[in-house]
Amino acid sequence: TYVIAEPCVDLLDKACIEECPVDCIYEGGRMMYIHPDECVDCGACEPVCPVEAIYYEDDVPEQWGAYQKANAEFFDEL
Ligand code: SF4
Repeated sequence: TYVIAEPCVDLLDKACIEECPVDCIYEGGRMMYIHPDECVDCGACEPVCPVEAIYYEDDVPEQWGAYQKANAEFFDEL
């Protein structure tokens, strides 16, 4: 799955939403979240993010590792 990290917080540009073929990017509070079970790993969202907030799960920068958990937990709470 792809994961959205800190640069999205309070920005919510939403360019990613237009690109996602399976509509698995959702708005929630201060940022956007990618549903880990719905994401098909196509990578279309990554290059369109103006602040490089989107990473493949294995490539999330270490300081933003918590965002992977946050994306999963966001959907558990729905
Ligand atoms: Fe959607 Fe593809 Fe991005 Fe996953 S990688 S969130 S399926 S655009």
